[in-house]
Amino acid sequence: MNVVSGKVAFGIALIVLLVGGFVVYMKFFKKTTTVEKREKFRDLFIFFGPPACGKGTLAARLKDELKFISVSTGDVLRQNVAQETELGKKAQPLMAKGELVPDELINAMIRDWLEKQSATRSPIILDGYPRTVQQAKTLVEMLKGSKNNEFRLRIMRFTVSEQEAVDRIVCRVVCSNKSCQKVYSTKALKSKVEGICDVCGSPLSKRCDDTEDVIKKRFNDYMKSESEMLNFFKEAGVEIQTISAEQPMQKVFEAFKEVAGVNAISES
Ligand SMILES: [Zn+2]
Repeated sequence: MNVVSGKVAFGIALIVLLVGGFVVYMKFFKKTTTVEKREKFRDLFIFFGPPACGKGTLAARLKDELKFISVSTGDVLRQNVAQETELGKKAQPLMAKGELVPDELINAMIRDWLEKQSATRSPIILDGYPRTVQQAKTLVEMLKGSKNNEFRLRIMRFTVSEQEAVDRIVCRVVCSNKSCQKVYSTKALKSKVEGICDVCGSPLSKRCDDTEDVIKKRFNDYMKSESEMLNFFKEAGVEIQTISAEQPMQKVFEAFKEVAGVNAISES
């Protein structure tokens, strides 16, 4: 009797030990594979947001402080022309004549650029690209291709109300000195002496295109094209993350780090 119950107890203990060990092993195993998976992907950010939402300022901070890199269509055009690549040779005469460089060339330059980005693991911001739904389609197809499937497309949408955008821009005054051109706002960033530049002492002038009607039109044109682009990405199954840009830049910066989960990247 005692021997039998002893054997049963031993059996139970053995099972508990095995199951426990397996659970701990799986937890550890799962954790390491998640980390490996995350490192395989490289974040490729596209920022959406109306004029004056501050996405340019945010991008500059991400580059300075978190080692992000960014690329614009202007960058790839200049590089290809300077290095006299096949694509550059096709684009150069068009640029010289002031003509539009066709999408196929731009797309191919972006593809080349992305393929060369293996030296660092820094997150990338696509600046002003894609600009059209057609370019967005090409990008999504491009990233499905085997060479580039290490990239993870991340759409970040920065929101401000029409009124806030109007307030931010309508109050914009610029230093009249051509070599200074510091921008002030009569609302948020005032010069120390009204109407005089802090840096060079030149008079400030209001930017002539910044009337309320012009800003509202620009804002609404932008929102229309943004919603077309976002609809495309939604249908393509790309997640869209939204951040309110109607808060001070420091808060927007913190919110971005939180939503994008980029703290870990900066520390590694
Ligand atoms: Zn100035």
